[in-house]
Amino acid sequence: MIHIMRRHYVLIIFLCLLAFQGINAQDKAGRLSESKPNIIVILADDLGYKDVGFTGSKEIFTPNLDKLANNGVIFKNGYVTHPFCGPSRAGLVTGRYQARFGLEINLTNSPFDMYNGLPKTEQTFAKRLQKSGYKTGIIGKWHLGGSYGFHPNRRGFDYFYGFVSGGHNYFPELTEKYRPLIGKKGDPLYAANEGTKQPLTRNDKLAEFDEYLTTALSKDAARFIKGSKDQPFCLYLAYNAPHKPLEAPEDVIAKYKHIKDPNRRTYAAMIDVMDQGIGTVVDALKKTGKLENTLIFFLSDNGGHRPDKKGYTFADNGPFKEGKGSMHEGGSHVPFILHWPGGNLKTGEFDGLVSALDIAATAVALGKGDTSGKPLDGKNLIPYLTGEKSGSPHDALFWRIETNKAFAVRTEQAKFLLENWGKDPNPKLYDMEKDPYESTDLSNKAKKTRAELAKLWNDWNKGNKANIFLQAGKYQKTRLELYKKLYEDLVKEAEKKKTLIVE
Ligand code: CA
Repeated sequence: MIHIMRRHYVLIIFLCLLAFQGINAQDKAGRLSESKPNIIVILADDLGYKDVGFTGSKEIFTPNLDKLANNGVIFKNGYVTHPFCGPSRAGLVTGRYQARFGLEINLTNSPFDMYNGLPKTEQTFAKRLQKSGYKTGIIGKWHLGGSYGFHPNRRGFDYFYGFVSGGHNYFPELTEKYRPLIGKKGDPLYAANEGTKQPLTRNDKLAEFDEYLTTALSKDAARFIKGSKDQPFCLYLAYNAPHKPLEAPEDVIAKYKHIKDPNRRTYAAMIDVMDQGIGTVVDALKKTGKLENTLIFFLSDNGGHRPDKKGYTFADNGPFKEGKGSMHEGGSHVPFILHWPGGNLKTGEFDGLVSALDIAATAVALGKGDTSGKPLDGKNLIPYLTGEKSGSPHDALFWRIETNKAFAVRTEQAKFLLENWGKDPNPKLYDMEKDPYESTDLSNKAKKTRAELAKLWNDWNKGNKANIFLQAGKYQKTRLELYKKLYEDLVKEAEKKKTLIVE
């Protein structure tokens, strides 16, 4: 009898264990599907379209990015919202066209200017995710306001390591040399304009800068990931590489002897170090078991540099026309991928129109972020990438540089644009199905298409604001003129006043 009871006990315990395991497995699966994924947005700066392996470079080696691309989704028609740094980043971090709030120039690095930054009417995707429990961080280049109120720590980022200005030198030795100076001798506005030689900061404090900048940023990103523990995180890793100044470690430059142009050789090495850094970030995700449930977006903030007055010809925008600053494809059609092993995405190439705006919309949707305030302009890409929805996420994408009267609109079929950097005042129209590299202008032939696209653009622009900022050089000049006027007025007023007489 006791023997039989024992058998029963064993059986009951066994069944209980099975049931417990079942509940546990269900619980785990449920948690995984409901858990908020981590989000990493990796941004390159002024990267040429064809200067990574997955877009066709045979000269520059990017094995880590290529691996992410090959195991993820490659957006064949991926765009940023503006062809240069500051406004493009404003669109990216808010998920709204920067024309909505009139930010269409590169903001100056003005530490005491309480008006010169990403308007406070706007929320960053980090702020929206911070409200839903994410740990948020930005590492690298901010470029959306240098004063206290515009600092990343006040715009939704718990953590910041990098620089608030639009550029930075890459070797610490140079910064040490310039650290005691406000700018170049005889040019006090130098640092205010560029900030390239200012020290790095961590949150509001002076931070270490003791190795090649791109490597320092990558290592800090790995530390951020490792330190996030069980809290979902959102990390914006905004490299300034391979933006000028062209500076790279000699041993990496030596890998590129096959490139004749010394500028391009250094530029290639800058991209190489960035790719190594992305490898460091992926390793940190693997080691912490987070790779599976982390979305990694990679893109450039605008196209590679066009040859300039100094003769720089280092970037290759591949088959696309022109480059940074242009309304043609080379300005805003960028290398753009998404890697998310746990997302059940259909990997491979995706042809629909995709925008940098979609990053915020996707992140906020997946992370159950705050959707209050101004509406997002992007689309949650995931249903398009799992096959739940078909077609292009966008019917049309839009661009504007209000101060130049430059514009562009593209649908899957056509693109209508005005470049207008003082060269050619005539708008151009291209058939993007037959002529994606913009070689034959149809503006005087396909008049119906031209009128349709013009209407699309005008309708989009109705709710937009005119640019409310001044370009760096002009801004500083205007600011100095205002100070001068203020001083002269005070002097005049003082002269009118009666001298104080005491008796
Ligand atoms: Ca840029």
